[in-house]
Amino acid sequence: MNEDLLGQCRTCGRQVSRKTLECPQCGEPRPTMTEEGNEKKKRYEYRPIFNIIITIGLLVIGFLGLICSV
Ligand SMILES: [Zn+2]
Repeated sequence: MNEDLLGQCRTCGRQVSRKTLECPQCGEPRPTMTEEGNEKKKRYEYRPIFNIIITIGLLVIGFLGLICSV
């Protein structure tokens, strides 16, 4: 039950709480966060930005089309 709350520090291997912000032994920030987790977070943040850029691009193209047609 408690194992869900515990993770292993990626730097020194000590068992630390997953909620801890810093490893008490080596001082690694967010010691239980894996590379995989970071990548997922990056992808999640990237998608909305990509959609916003496409939306703005379509609005600009539509706006330019309106100006040209007048
Ligand atoms: Zn550590």
